[in-house]
Amino acid sequence: MNISAKTGHVSLVGAGPGDPDLLTIKALKAIQSADVVVYDRLVADGIVALIPETAERIFAGKSCKKKAMTQDEINALLVELAGRGAHVVRLKGGDPLLFGRGGEEALELVRHGIAFEMVPGITSAQGCAAYAGIPLTHRGLATGVRFITGHRTAPEEAQMPLELNWASLADPETTLVIYMGLANLEIITAQLIKHGLAANTPAAAIEQGTTSAQKLLTATLADIAQKVVQAAFEPPTLIIIGKVVSLAESLAWFVNQLPDNNQKNVKYFTELSH
Ligand code: SAH
Repeated sequence: MNISAKTGHVSLVGAGPGDPDLLTIKALKAIQSADVVVYDRLVADGIVALIPETAERIFAGKSCKKKAMTQDEINALLVELAGRGAHVVRLKGGDPLLFGRGGEEALELVRHGIAFEMVPGITSAQGCAAYAGIPLTHRGLATGVRFITGHRTAPEEAQMPLELNWASLADPETTLVIYMGLANLEIITAQLIKHGLAANTPAAAIEQGTTSAQKLLTATLADIAQKVVQAAFEPPTLIIIGKVVSLAESLAWFVNQLPDNNQKNVKYFTELSH
């Protein structure tokens, strides 16, 4: 790392949802000019491969061999590297400021007087929806969209039940996109039905969206929790709930380009009424 006589700074960069071609030009430029890249588990291999040989790579996510770094350790690492004069790229899946803790890291940099920039990425909600043929809003079907977490990540909240404002979420005109929703899907769907969202509201699960391993299932609010278990969905999976999901079968495009062994996705389409 040649960092002499340089002022350190951090670029908080979104890597997008998976397909490396969804990286922004600004993100690519930041990666290409980095002295060191600190990246997460959700950053696709094809994007890690774009990191120049000259840059140091630091993996901050979980792996079989190593335990994940804690958020405090990551914050301290960014401060230390930038303090040494490096251009640090903090590379995160999707958008760094959507369920990505980019804000927390930026606050830490501010506390230490370290210069930074934010480079937004295509969030998985947008990427997965587009590659599943689901418009997040559509005239007559949805007037808005909400991005929600289905999982509490703060340590002090880990043991708490998932408490969201269910009454406000149970709106038939709003598309709901649930990040990290797989483990709590049964609770989420039951609460939405209890609070008045129709049991036959279309719902979709998308695993590894935008990649050649993308898996797509459409079902209803009443049976999606059971169907994702039957179809052995695994993280990262995104859940989309709302009438717009009914367009997925008509607008399917990406699934048709996948290799034959991926065509099993198609049979996961459940009959949904428009
Ligand atoms: N900052 C990220 C979200 C991180 S939270 C973003 O903007 O997308 C992690 C969750 O994102 C996962 O549990 C999953 O719900 C979702 N996710 C991220 N990438 C995904 C992908 N390629 N396919 C499906 N879901 C994805």
